[in-house]
This record gives sequence, C-alpha cells and structure tokens, in this order.
Amino acid sequence: MTGTVCLTFDVDGGEAQRYAAPGEPALVDLSQISWGDFGIVRGLPRILELLRELAVPGTFFSPGATLDAHPEAFEAVLADGHEIGHHGHHHFHPAEIDAAAQEEELLSGLEAIRRRLGVTPAGYRSPAWQLTSVTFELLVRHGFVYDSSLMGDDRPYVATDGPHRLLELPVHWGLDDFPHFGMNASFAGPLRNPREVFDVWWLEIESAIADGRPTVLCMHPEVIGRSWTFDAFGRFVRRLTEDHRIELRTCLDVARSHTDRQ
Ligand SMILES: [Zn+2]
Repeated sequence: MTGTVCLTFDVDGGEAQRYAAPGEPALVDLSQISWGDFGIVRGLPRILELLRELAVPGTFFSPGATLDAHPEAFEAVLADGHEIGHHGHHHFHPAEIDAAAQEEELLSGLEAIRRRLGVTPAGYRSPAWQLTSVTFELLVRHGFVYDSSLMGDDRPYVATDGPHRLLELPVHWGLDDFPHFGMNASFAGPLRNPREVFDVWWLEIESAIADGRPTVLCMHPEVIGRSWTFDAFGRFVRRLTEDHRIELRTCLDVARSHTDRQ
C-alpha cells in the first residue's frame, strides 16, 4: 500500500492578530503580534528552503490581511509551485462573528488572494477550525473544491450540512504543531520534545499507509519554524521523501484525485 501526506501550513502572521472580532477592542499585545511576525520573517523562509531542497509541495493557508501586509512572502510561496488556500481575512473565528461578518471575511480574503497573487484558492481552512453552517454554505456557493477544518473521519470524505455538501480533507488537533509546541498568554503548551512528536506522527502515517489513506499535517511557521523544532521537522520531512511508500502532495491534488474517483 501507499500513503499520501499533505504538508499544510497556516501562515497567520502578526498582521491577522491585530484585529479583534467586530465590536471588540483591537488587540494591542505587541508580543503576540511579534510572534506571528517571526513566522513571516524567519519561519516561512526556512520552510520554503526545506521544501525546495527536497522538491516537496506544500499547501499554505493565509488570511487576506496577512497577504496584504506581506505580499512578497506569498509571491515566493507561489513561485515555488505551492498551493495557496483561504484562511479568512482578519483571521476572525467564524463561530464568534455573525453571518454578515463571516461573509465579509470570506469575500475579503478571496479578493486579497486574487488581487495580490492572481489565483483563486480552491481550498479553505477555518481560523481556529471553528467552521459554521454559514461559512460552510458560503464555501459551497463560491465554488470551493474542498474544506480542511473538520474531523469527521481520518480520510477524505464528503461533509454535509443541511442540503450542502463539500469535500473534506480532515484535520486533527494531534496532527497540528500548536498543541505540542505552541504557547502564548492564554495557552501554555507542553513544549514537547519534537523527536517524540514526529515519532507519534510517524505511527499515524504507518497506519495511513496500511489503509491507503491520505494524512493531513497542519503546522504554523511561527511554531514549527523555531530552530529546535525545525531541525527535527527537517529530518522528518526527509524521512518522508525517502520512504518509497509515501507520496507528498498538495491538498488540491488529493482533492482532485478523490473527486475523480466519485
Ligand atoms: Zn490560523
């Protein structure tokens, strides 16, 4: 059997963290914002260099406001042939804002990606994985090929909400770097040994190979891009490339294969 792995990166940046939900005061936590900025200036270039060296494709989800603040960073992502996905505009969590604000988030994020990069994203990942029925319907209405925010299976499936259907490339908190290495003023992460985490992820991948199912890994440049995690991450990705049973593909590539089989 073979297994597919999608390396995905949520490039939130500091810009998206300046905004509070409508009606709430803007965030003024410069430390939190600067941590997001680290992801742009240091984490993202490290990731791009690694993927370039190993000829590995990735999928990068970004809020529109972050793209507007750092267009050159995302031009570099696109120039390397990676996929760009939608990740809101101000990174508002859909479950925390009303229907009009959710639509504004979706349309503004779409417009920013089209204007800055000249591409239309086919995939969406909800900020904080807080997808709602309102945003789900908007994704279907605007022709998104897939979502990657839900956890209803451990392989691609068609998610349904009322009359609406959309291909889902599921995520899971355990396969996200933030619960293992992330830390901020409101979340004290365990700061685990990265070698242990990647060993656990490898167990998931071995299981996925046996099943022939794709695995979606979710990372953040400000988290995985710190030197102590990044060294181990680099060895992990190299191991993926050296295993002949594993294919590394973008989310859109996997989504198209899945749709073609329907
Ligand atoms: Zn995010």
